[in-house]
Amino acid sequence: MEQGLLTVDCGAIVRNWRRLSALHAPGAVAAVVKADAYGLGAAPVARALRAAGCAHFFVAHPAEGEALRAALGEGPMIAVLDGFAPGAHPRLTPVLNSLADVRAHAARGGEAILHIDTGMARLGLDAAELDALAADPAPLARLDLRFVMTHLACADEPDHPLNAAQRARFEAACARLPAAPRSLANSSGLFLGAGFRSDLARPGCALYGINPTPGRPNPMERAVTLEVPVLQIREIAAGETVGYGATWRAARRSRVATCAAGYADGWLRALSGKGFGVAHGRRAPLIGRVSMDLTTFDVTDIPELRPGETLTLLGAEQDADAAAALAGTIGYEILTALGARYARRYLPA
Ligand SMILES: *Cc1c(COP(=O)(O)O)cnc(C)c1O
Repeated sequence: MEQGLLTVDCGAIVRNWRRLSALHAPGAVAAVVKADAYGLGAAPVARALRAAGCAHFFVAHPAEGEALRAALGEGPMIAVLDGFAPGAHPRLTPVLNSLADVRAHAARGGEAILHIDTGMARLGLDAAELDALAADPAPLARLDLRFVMTHLACADEPDHPLNAAQRARFEAACARLPAAPRSLANSSGLFLGAGFRSDLARPGCALYGINPTPGRPNPMERAVTLEVPVLQIREIAAGETVGYGATWRAARRSRVATCAAGYADGWLRALSGKGFGVAHGRRAPLIGRVSMDLTTFDVTDIPELRPGETLTLLGAEQDADAAAALAGTIGYEILTALGARYARRYLPA
């Protein structure tokens, strides 16, 4: 193997979607596949979910939506979280993020999702815009309003008071608007209890195996494996150093494996000196700095390892959440950073 191999288990993703669907019943469960399905490949992932019965997909950008429509064909709803100009993408469903969006799209009609901001202060109608729309809801009557949605800011912190506050604001907002199906929970929101169920949940990360309940056991199945090839193995004497900045010094005669992946492939430089690769059932500590295309590991205690074999960077022993914790980030960023230079293999559902 000359390049790293990213294996995406579509079966695990479909099982995760089914698990979330059972949890959220009778409400439906969409799939958020923005950012190329969190770096895993929107087309193969969405096709597997579509075959399993998923009927609603969310992307961020219109171009992502157009590509997804080409991959999925007609049928499922493909909603664009960032919205788009009226008429620009007739086969996609815009999320309307302001009163101006509502008025512009109402002039033309068509499907839409209305986004109410209840505490994220990012996108969506604010309180004053909601007042104006509630006072004059006529534009909504000209739209095929598929859902009214809001987005939780702190769903991964179950005790955060903003969760209940956002839910209450959302219910109050919906009560002031013409009746329409509602969409509330993201992945973590699905685990906040029955009060956070709605007509359509919008999980992303949990589908891909990231823990939606941080600090508690992960209820989801891991869907990603990353293996990188060993290019060379060298012996160095005690006292020698490895890599840029000479940050790692051998305390004993050591075997150093140099692997063909670096921060340009999304193995973040913040992981320098942190975590490990796995080969032959043992852990090889990552040593020295992660460089652009190469990363080094202490394989002294895996004497049978040879160049051409691989180290597993993401797998059962070290998943995206674990790597993220070491890097001071979240699993989402580990997945979306995974680079374009890996070969990709999709295990069928
Ligand atoms: C990204 C996103 C989601 C999915 O969030 P996860 O935490 O990955 O489940 C849902 N809704 C909106 C509006 C989003 O931007």
